[in-house]
Amino acid sequence: THFGYQQVPVGEKAARVRQVFDSVASRYDLMNDLMSLGIHRLWKRHAIELAGVRRGQQVLDLASGTGDLADRFAGIVGPDGLVVMSDINAAMLGEGRERMLDRGRVGNVQYSLINAEKIPFGDDRFDCVTISFGLRNVTDKQAALDEMFRVLRPGGKALIVEFSHPLTKPLSKAYDLYSFSVLPTLGKLIVNDSSSYRYLAESIRMHPDQETLRSMMETSGFERCEYFNHTGGIVAIHRGYKL
Ligand code: SAM
Repeated sequence: THFGYQQVPVGEKAARVRQVFDSVASRYDLMNDLMSLGIHRLWKRHAIELAGVRRGQQVLDLASGTGDLADRFAGIVGPDGLVVMSDINAAMLGEGRERMLDRGRVGNVQYSLINAEKIPFGDDRFDCVTISFGLRNVTDKQAALDEMFRVLRPGGKALIVEFSHPLTKPLSKAYDLYSFSVLPTLGKLIVNDSSSYRYLAESIRMHPDQETLRSMMETSGFERCEYFNHTGGIVAIHRGYKL
């Protein structure tokens, strides 16, 4: 157990993902800032804007990690709203909860160990469901999208922030160089673990591109699906509605 949370049983890819995040949990925020040169903060800010969440609403944040989005949402929904902060990994969720308590977020945040592929909530429940830099780690992405759709109330929306595919060849080349040599080296220096960051680079390359993810959302039933490219397509924010 970690921080009193029991790990959930998972398959092989998931076990690898767990190992990666177990190994980086405590220095996760620092790595995020270094790896993205701080730009992840802008990506997340835009996601919050696009979510359009209001006071009193209920938000489910999947793969919350250390809870950057959950923290912002908790401020927006206020004391009458609710944010469920969740992650499949007990170490990450434990770090996240500590972080939220440090920020003074109490009262409207619930913590839950959740596999995005099988969300333990009933249908039509949340105003907004988000997953930021989490979907690419999920083994069955279509199942996760189906589940996100299911737990949304009609009129609710889903937001997916994820690394995507660079829009131009030169950027793509530079990005590969960065991901496959700079990143693992940073990983080695900072958390003494280059293989975790090599895994991350590979998972980014394998992740469906912008249009593919959009059509996967449509397959799950989402409507008015659109995406916003950031930093030349290195990151894309997808949004879809349950109508
Ligand atoms: N959302 C945070 C952010 O934007 O900084 C954290 C993202 S972190 C890169 C990815 C998280 O996804 C990890 O904490 C990992 O444990 C979690 N994760 C991996 N597979 C998952 C799954 N199947 N369901 C839910 N979370 C998962």
